[in-house]
Amino acid sequence: MKKILFLSFITVVGLSCQKKQKLEYTEWSAGQPESTKAALLNIDHEKSSVTANYKNKTISFYRQSYSGLPVYNSFFKTLSDTKGLQQIQAQTAQLKEFKSLSKNNDSALDFASLLKNKSASFNKIEIINSEEIIYLENSKPLHLMSVSFFDRTGTPYQAFFKFDGSLLDLKRTGSQFADISTSLYVEGPKLGGLTELLLKSVSATPSLSNSVIAVTSEAEKKITTLSPVLKFDPKDERFDQLQVFYYLDKSFQWMKDNLNVRIPTRINAVVHMGYPEKTNSAFYYQNKIRIGKGDDVTYSNIPQDASIIYHESFHALIDSVAHLSFEGENGSLNEAFADFFTCLMTDRPLLGESSYLKGPFKRNLTLGFKYSEKTGGLYHDSLIVSSLLWELKEKLGSEKAKTLAIETLIQLNPASDLKTFSQKLIESSKNLSVDEQNIILQSVSNKGF
Ligand SMILES: [Zn+2]
Repeated sequence: MKKILFLSFITVVGLSCQKKQKLEYTEWSAGQPESTKAALLNIDHEKSSVTANYKNKTISFYRQSYSGLPVYNSFFKTLSDTKGLQQIQAQTAQLKEFKSLSKNNDSALDFASLLKNKSASFNKIEIINSEEIIYLENSKPLHLMSVSFFDRTGTPYQAFFKFDGSLLDLKRTGSQFADISTSLYVEGPKLGGLTELLLKSVSATPSLSNSVIAVTSEAEKKITTLSPVLKFDPKDERFDQLQVFYYLDKSFQWMKDNLNVRIPTRINAVVHMGYPEKTNSAFYYQNKIRIGKGDDVTYSNIPQDASIIYHESFHALIDSVAHLSFEGENGSLNEAFADFFTCLMTDRPLLGESSYLKGPFKRNLTLGFKYSEKTGGLYHDSLIVSSLLWELKEKLGSEKAKTLAIETLIQLNPASDLKTFSQKLIESSKNLSVDEQNIILQSVSNKGF
């Protein structure tokens, strides 16, 4: 037993260090050779996709498949309008990479018990999905089971199992509001007081919900019935359920009205993750949002902080139109857009003002960095991008900045890095006036791109 554990530990480290897969990136746009388009369309891929709509455009994502199995980290992103297919962005592997694949048949694994002893917080997990995948390792293709789950505190993970039940890789995934703690200037307001509001078209069956969102709680007191007047003290656990529902409803409405994007699936949020333990969880992953109450050391009353709830909801938007990941420069782009849209919505450049205890805010989009100052830090590098977008908002106004941001975002995909962002931003500015384009070019250049 000891030997097996030791070996799987070594493999975990090994796989995590070799993120490089044998996947190639290709882009085709209308007007470019039809042969490139035909070659891309000829590659085997999944039959169904999740689609999102932006104005008259349909955005679809598929994964490459081989022998009926999806290829991990591969994708086809297609943009179509009424005239047909306008763009394909693809990250795929060549057929020769699959030559030595050997498939396994036995898939009856009990993941909950296989994971139970791997971490103290895995004693109660919620499996989101499990599927067979092909993982293209440097040396050979592997047939694995990929299992996505939330741990007891609501933190999302992805695990990769071999069919003998051994764990090959385990990583924390999903978005998080914050994972570094820092202390900044000790000033800045807490925002507003309790206001009388009207929530429309709410259901309490099976939980607080409407067509777009459903909110539940891990706390003992839950909202299961509605009455014409439903008021709670902010210290009552049910207050946070209503509060998160209100924030989420507001942000998805804002996305529809301001960005012309409608999220294709219902978002499921759970507050008070880990109750009665107070956790700092604030995650989005696969259409699910998980929010802790805050440990009262770094954060308190997270569900009551609009900027954190909005931020997580924008990850759902970003996921549906660009599939940005949660690590590397691609992850920083994900965080940057979530922060920028949040700040556009609140019309304030600050994140975490109401709940962050170690400073007046967690992030400030007026305090950015240049491209040359990038460190690889997820949130640090996100500020290179979000501060540039905020600067453009100040110079061009909110209306133009939000169109520019969403049109740039729909051009991005899981292979995009910070440089890609600057290029797509410039491309997306083509419909603006020459003066405005020059302002953008100047700001991009000042950022050191
Ligand atoms: Zn985030």
